[in-house]
Amino acid sequence: MCGIFGISGHEEAARLAYFGLYALQHRGQESAGIATWADGEIHSHVGMGLVPDVFTEEVLVHLPGDVSVGHVRYSTTGRPEPRNAQPLTVRMRGGMQLSLAHNGNLTNAAELRAELEDAGAIFQTTSDSEIFLHLISHCLKDMSLEEAILSACDRVEGAYCLMIQAGGKLIAVRDPHGFHPLVMGRLGDAWVFASESCAFDLLEAERLRGVRPGEMVVIEHGALEYRSFALRKSAPVRQCIFELVYFARPDSVIFGEDVYQCRKRMGLELVKEAPADVDCVIPFPDSGVYASLGVAQGAGVPYEHALIRNHYVGRTFIQPSQSMRQFSVRVKINPVHSMIEGKRLFVVDDSIVRGTTVRTRVAKLRDMGAKEVHFRVSCPPIRHGCFYGIDFPSTRELVAVQHGPEELAALLGLDSLHYLSLEGLKRSVSCPDQYCTACFDGCYPTPLPAVQDKYSLEYARK
Ligand code: SF4
Repeated sequence: MCGIFGISGHEEAARLAYFGLYALQHRGQESAGIATWADGEIHSHVGMGLVPDVFTEEVLVHLPGDVSVGHVRYSTTGRPEPRNAQPLTVRMRGGMQLSLAHNGNLTNAAELRAELEDAGAIFQTTSDSEIFLHLISHCLKDMSLEEAILSACDRVEGAYCLMIQAGGKLIAVRDPHGFHPLVMGRLGDAWVFASESCAFDLLEAERLRGVRPGEMVVIEHGALEYRSFALRKSAPVRQCIFELVYFARPDSVIFGEDVYQCRKRMGLELVKEAPADVDCVIPFPDSGVYASLGVAQGAGVPYEHALIRNHYVGRTFIQPSQSMRQFSVRVKINPVHSMIEGKRLFVVDDSIVRGTTVRTRVAKLRDMGAKEVHFRVSCPPIRHGCFYGIDFPSTRELVAVQHGPEELAALLGLDSLHYLSLEGLKRSVSCPDQYCTACFDGCYPTPLPAVQDKYSLEYARK
């Protein structure tokens, strides 16, 4: 749950990173940072909060140079605090400055950190991303920067997309499984990288292709060509299917998939699997909107906006406490009475995590006189945690672990509840064998971390 951005060869590198991060803000709202390179020095600014809160005109003016790396963060390892804000910028052996931005979660972070600390390393952050810096630094004695990064990648396991800049070079890396997306493009003669292609649209950059799973792309300062290296570890491609279900913006193209069309196909599959006699389809805004379009098309009934969202309230399942979460659900959505009273409804959302949101909203629909509520979810029940960077709550808090679909339907007062099957979800994407589906089926593509806690790096030592 982070967004990364990089650009090389544009004199407004900081400003373009600012806009790129703006487009990626949905991937992380806790902190933001940009590091640029000019006259042999890295200039960096990071802070807590949203991109426009962290960066003012005055701050951007003090980030000169034509190379930049940017990051927006939502913490999955390491607490949300200033020292963990990225890009992380350090001075390595020989005085080389390096900035690194990471999206993903390492599954062997606790072991690597313990090993490095036992060898004398002093960590400045509690984030797993810093492990890369130590591993790279150790190798720089005998190797080039590129070889040192490849060696660091030999040691780590799990999910990582990296944007690194050092000495004017810009380097993009994607782990062998390719868990999270990283796309590359061009803006005139400049090279651009971003977690999602929606950042390119804002900059009017051309999307070239995705950085491939297990690929490292190196842009020399001022180069018109890139160099591509293969990471030495190979692994089956296992891209995060939940990026397509929920996390990525619908106007992005990631993993070679048009996210909007994918979600619509999920809706079409849903209605094939579980039709019902209804008057109209309504989405839970905004997450259910795109699957709802497919449900409406497949069912041949009108699509209506009967729940109106207040856009100035944050995403529900990342609120810190249960009481605040329930409040935010109420404050977030207001129903349109005429579209609900006496109606038989297909209600669609992309997922059910804790169940708090659906409970409150279905109760509201019932209060307002909905005749029938048939709830459709465009992914299978989430029954397992994620160790690769998507922040689900602990397994015991997942509502699908506590209740089967029929039991949950009865508890929520639904006339029917259907989750899209795993087969239906896979039919909605073009390369079904190349996806991680572990949060649905428990088939993890990597060994699991020894300490399975959100802030494992801190707890591992206690
Ligand atoms: S476990 Fe789920 S959320 Fe995590 S990477 Fe796999 S598909 Fe994505």
